[in-house]
Amino acid sequence: MIIILLGPPGAGKGTIANEINRRVSIPIIATGDILRNAIEKNIDLGKKAKSFVVSGKLVPDEYIIKIVEDRIAEYDCENGFIFDGFPRTINQARELDMVFKKLNKNIDQVFYFDISYSTIINRLSARRVCTKCGAIYNLKYDPPEKADHCSKCGGKLIQRVDDQEDTIKKRVDVYNEETSPLVSYYEKKNILTRINADQDLKDRFEIIWHRLIEIGVIK
Ligand code: ADP
Repeated sequence: MIIILLGPPGAGKGTIANEINRRVSIPIIATGDILRNAIEKNIDLGKKAKSFVVSGKLVPDEYIIKIVEDRIAEYDCENGFIFDGFPRTINQARELDMVFKKLNKNIDQVFYFDISYSTIINRLSARRVCTKCGAIYNLKYDPPEKADHCSKCGGKLIQRVDDQEDTIKKRVDVYNEETSPLVSYYEKKNILTRINADQDLKDRFEIIWHRLIEIGVIK
C-alpha cells in the first residue's frame, strides 16, 4: 500500500501518518524528519539542507529524490509506505512517477488535507515534538501530561526552529506556490481524496480508513 499525504504545514499529516502506521505497520517516509535528522547529525546532507530548512524554503529536488530512492529501496518498504511531505513540487511528482514506473509500483491514494490559514497558525505555534520518539503534541488541543515531556516515552519536547511565526508564513507561501499545484496533478489521475483538516482527528481518520477499504487496499 502506497499512500501520499499532501497538504500545507500544520494540516496534521504527521499525526495521521502515525495513526495509519499504528494500524497497518508500514513505514512513514517523512522527508522533513530525514532532513532534520541529517542536520542534527551534521552529516553531508544536513550541511547542504540546513539553510533551506531553517528559512522555510524547499530543499533542491535532486537531494530529495535521492533520499526517497534510497529509502524506498530498504527492506521494510517492501509492502508499502506512507509519504509525508513528499512530493512537494510538480517536478518531484514527475520524478516519483518515473521511479515507480521502473519499480513497477503504483500510488494507491493521495489524501489532500484542506485547512484554513488561521488553523495552520494556531496549530503550528502551539506544536511541540518529542526529540526521542517523534510524537506530536499541541499545547492547546492535545497537551502532554507533564509539561515539556513526552507522555509516551518521557523524551524532551521541543518547538521546531521553523515553527516560529515568520517562518510559518514563509512555509505557507512556499506551499501555495510550489506544492498546491499537486492537488490537480493527482486529481487528474483520479487518485486524490480531499479531507477537511479543520475536523478533529477521529473524523479525519475515519474518512481515510473508509477510503482505503473502498479502494481495496485494506480488508
Ligand atoms: P511541514 O510539512 O510542517 O512544513 P516538514 O517536516 O515536512 O514540515 O518539512 C520541513 C522542511 O524540510 C521544509 O520547510 C523544507 O525546507 C524541507 N523539506 C521537507 N520535505 C521536502 C521536500 N519534499 N522537498 C523539499 N524540501 C523539503
